[in-house]
Amino acid sequence: MILRLHTRPEIGRLVEDLPGKVTLPGDPVFEQNRRVLFDPDGCVPAALVRGASPADISRVIGFARQHGFDLAIRGGGHSSAGHGTVDGGIVIDLRDLDDVAVDEPTSTVWVGGGATVRAVLKALEPHGLVVGFGDSGDVGVGGIVSGGGIGYLSRLHGATIDSVLAAEVVLADGRFVMAGPDSEPDLFWAIRGGGGNFGVITRIQFQARPLPAFTGGMLVLPGTAETIAAFVAAAQTAPEALSAIAMVMPAPPAPFIPEAYKDKLVLFAMMAFAGPDDAAAAALAPFRALGPVFDAVKPGPLLSLYDGPGGEPPGMPETRTFFVDRISKDAARTIVGFLTESDSAMRMVQIRVLGGAVNRVPSGDTAYAHRDAQIMMFLANFYSDPADRSKRSKWVDDLMSALRQEHEGAYVNFLGDEGPARTRSAYPGPTWDRLRRIKRQYDPENVFRRNQNIPPASA
Ligand SMILES: Cc1cc2nc3c(=O)[nH]c(=O)nc-3n(C[C@H](O)[C@H](O)[C@H](O)COP(=O)(O)OP(=O)(O)OC[C@H]3O[C@@H](n4cnc5c(N)ncnc54)[C@H](O)[C@@H]3O)c2cc1C
Repeated sequence: MILRLHTRPEIGRLVEDLPGKVTLPGDPVFEQNRRVLFDPDGCVPAALVRGASPADISRVIGFARQHGFDLAIRGGGHSSAGHGTVDGGIVIDLRDLDDVAVDEPTSTVWVGGGATVRAVLKALEPHGLVVGFGDSGDVGVGGIVSGGGIGYLSRLHGATIDSVLAAEVVLADGRFVMAGPDSEPDLFWAIRGGGGNFGVITRIQFQARPLPAFTGGMLVLPGTAETIAAFVAAAQTAPEALSAIAMVMPAPPAPFIPEAYKDKLVLFAMMAFAGPDDAAAAALAPFRALGPVFDAVKPGPLLSLYDGPGGEPPGMPETRTFFVDRISKDAARTIVGFLTESDSAMRMVQIRVLGGAVNRVPSGDTAYAHRDAQIMMFLANFYSDPADRSKRSKWVDDLMSALRQEHEGAYVNFLGDEGPARTRSAYPGPTWDRLRRIKRQYDPENVFRRNQNIPPASA
C-alpha cells in the first residue's frame, strides 16, 4: 500500500520534544499503530503519539494548536466513524494509559483513559466486583464513557457513566483538572455522554458493584417475525437483573448452527443475568420457551461473554441508530423483509431493551439524556467494494424510516459519520444548549473536533 505522506517540517520539533513517543509515516511500527477498527477514509496521520503522560498530552495539544494540526484522540480504536484517527493530523493514542487500580474497601476503581473494557473487568473479577460496560471487551473505557455506555448490566446498574465518580481531564488550554460532582461540575456533567468534545480523559474513577453470581451466554432462536416480537416483549417484562442484546441476522457459518438454519435468519442473543442460578433460570424461561436453535446460556463468569478478541469486521459498515418504544409483529416483519432482501455479505438489526436503572436517572443529570428511551436500535449493513456504499447506506436509511416511531433521538456512540443533524439528534434541546455553553467555556476554539462535534456556543 502506498501511504500518502503528510510531512510537515514542524513535526520534527514534536519528535524532539517527546523522545521515543512519536511515530511518523515510514517508521516500521507506524502502519501497525495507525490502525483502528473502522477507517472509512483511510486516514494517514502526520504523527502518532503513544505512551504520553498527562503532561505530554498537554504539550501535544499546545503543539497542535500552535501549528494548526487536527487532533484525534484514540482509546480502543472502536469508533464506527473512524474518529480515533485523522488524516494529516496528530493522533494521541492512549492505549498505554491502561493502569487499573482496585480499592476493595470502597469498591472503587481508578482506570487509565486508554484501558479496555476487558482489562477493567479482569482486574475487578478477583474482588467479586463489576462495572457495567458494553458487549465488546476491546472497546476503550474513555470512549464508552464519552458516549454513555449501554450493555449487559445496564438495566440493573445503569449506563456506564452512571458509575463514574470522577475523571482527570486534560483540557484544550493544556491544564489538567479533576472533574467530579464538587470540582468542575459542568465539565463532569458534559464528559458523561458529551462524546469526547471537552478534553482528553486520562483517568476515570468508577464505583464498582458486587457480582456474586452470574448467568449468561449465547441463545440462538429462529429469526422469524413472531419470535423477534416475542423476544423483545419478554425482554421488556424481564427482571432488571436481566439484560439482553439481540441481533437479527443471517446465521453465521458456525459449527453450533444446525444445518437447517444455514443461511436462514436467526435471532442471535447475548443474555446476561446478575444473580443466583435459580432466579436466572426463572428469568430465562420465557426466552427458552421460544424454542432455541442453540442454547449456551449457563452460570459462569461475566468475563466469559468477552472471550477472545473481536476479530476483523466483514468490511466497512453503513450504520444507523435510533430509539423505539416497542417492536410489534409488523415491525418485526419489516426487519425480516429488509434482512432477507439485502444481498450484502453481512447485515444485521441489533435490538437492546433499556428500562430499569438506565431510565431512572433524570434526563438532566448527565449529557446522555435519552433516559425515556425504551429500546435502542442499531442497524448495520457492510460493504467491501466502495461502489456498494450508497446501496448499503440507502438500506439502513430506508429501514430506519420504516421502523422509526415517536422518539427522534440517537445514541452518540453508535453514530457513524452521518453529519451534524444526526449528531444534534443525540442530544435533546436543553442538553444540546448546555453542552454548547460548556464547550465554549472549555474548548472555545473547538480543538477537540474529531468526534460527533458539538460546536461552541457563540459568545
Ligand atoms: C464492536 C463494537 C461493539 C460495541 N459495543 C458497544 C456496547 O455494547 N455499548 C456501547 O455503549 N457502545 C458500544 N460500542 C460503541 C463504542 O462505545 C464507541 O464506538 C466508543 O467511542 C469506542 O471507544 P474507543 O475508545 O474504543 O474508540 P476510539 O475510536 O479510540 O475513540 C472514539 C472516540 O472516543 C473519544 N475518546 C476515546 N477515548 C477518550 C478519552 N480517554 N478521552 C476523551 N475522549 C476519548 C474520542 O472522541 C474518540 O474519537 C461498540 C463499538 C464496536 C465497534
